[in-house]
Amino acid sequence: MSMKVDLSETILIDNHAHSLLKGFLDVDVLQFRRSFSESQSMSYIERHAHHSLTYINMLHRLRKLLPFETEDELIELRQKMSPSDYLNTLFDDASIGALLVDNGFMSDVMLANNELAKMSERPVYKIMRLEAMFERLIRQRMSFSKLERGIQEEILEASSDLVGLKTIAAYRGGLPTDCAVERSLAETEYKEICGSLSDIAHFRIEKSALYHYLLFHAFEASIQAGLPIQIHSGFGDTDLMLDQANPVLLTSVLKSKRFNGARFVFLHCFPYHKEAAYLCSVFPNCYMDLSLTVVLASATAKQVMLESMAVAPTTKILGGTDGHSVPEMHWYGALVTKEALQAVLGQLVGDNFIRSVDAMSIAEKFLYGNTRDLYNLEGLG
Ligand SMILES: [Zn+2]
Repeated sequence: MSMKVDLSETILIDNHAHSLLKGFLDVDVLQFRRSFSESQSMSYIERHAHHSLTYINMLHRLRKLLPFETEDELIELRQKMSPSDYLNTLFDDASIGALLVDNGFMSDVMLANNELAKMSERPVYKIMRLEAMFERLIRQRMSFSKLERGIQEEILEASSDLVGLKTIAAYRGGLPTDCAVERSLAETEYKEICGSLSDIAHFRIEKSALYHYLLFHAFEASIQAGLPIQIHSGFGDTDLMLDQANPVLLTSVLKSKRFNGARFVFLHCFPYHKEAAYLCSVFPNCYMDLSLTVVLASATAKQVMLESMAVAPTTKILGGTDGHSVPEMHWYGALVTKEALQAVLGQLVGDNFIRSVDAMSIAEKFLYGNTRDLYNLEGLG
């Protein structure tokens, strides 16, 4: 038996989102489809992306809100609308209350955070990508000890404008498995980069002793700055090797006393949501979201949510969408999250596994409470 739990009006604070394209209503069919896939292949976008269950379901839901039948009609309709009205119609429909935005993704073509906040008429909080900072500082070819100090200083100085940090190590060769990286080795690698790269302007940090040394240095600084660190795990960008994005690879880092005071949030997680939930169940400083999972694996959202909640305490799972580029992605992720949560909690109440009052408390934590508490957001929810 299932009991009704109604979350349609409950707000979601999106703990993992990106901004929108400056011309998010001007995109063509292929650009629009592209937001609902992680594939970089045009042949995939042309032939397969619109045949995913996620995309079919997204259009099906959108037809209840807008008068269109075909993809082409939708694109035409969008182009006639006012960006601000359209955005707010979608965000209000899904009760998106606030967003935590990582600007490291295609920042030159995206709305800045303040523009997004103004247009969407809701708070937008900033998350800083560590790799962008590492690469910028490395390009300046300062001494190694100055680089170390620079990272710490930037994190502390920026902490008043930020609510969190983020690493995409999973997309740059894989998550770090060993927390004992020799300083001398990192320094040697750094000197080689500074000395040998003729085109340091395009330097991209990849799996190396230097990278992981700097990452651990930043983890330490995050403790002092009081900022949680988001860690991409599971599926995501196409440049990852999926088996190198399993959050359990971080176990030795998590066990290290050095990072006891840091707080880690695993993002996306699929198909390793069970592994992430396990880590959340043993390490007090681990959290997780199912952001990209509820979008790109939406047909299994209920199952993934239940499997995660069955293991991780309900204070450890945060709401998120990984929405980017077009607002339909944030909207769709928020709707799927709320409906799946409603169904899972309704089932648990119906089975007399928990009380209705427990279900509402869990839902509020999942959708906004945990994010508000972890990132220290004032006056929300
Ligand atoms: Zn993401």
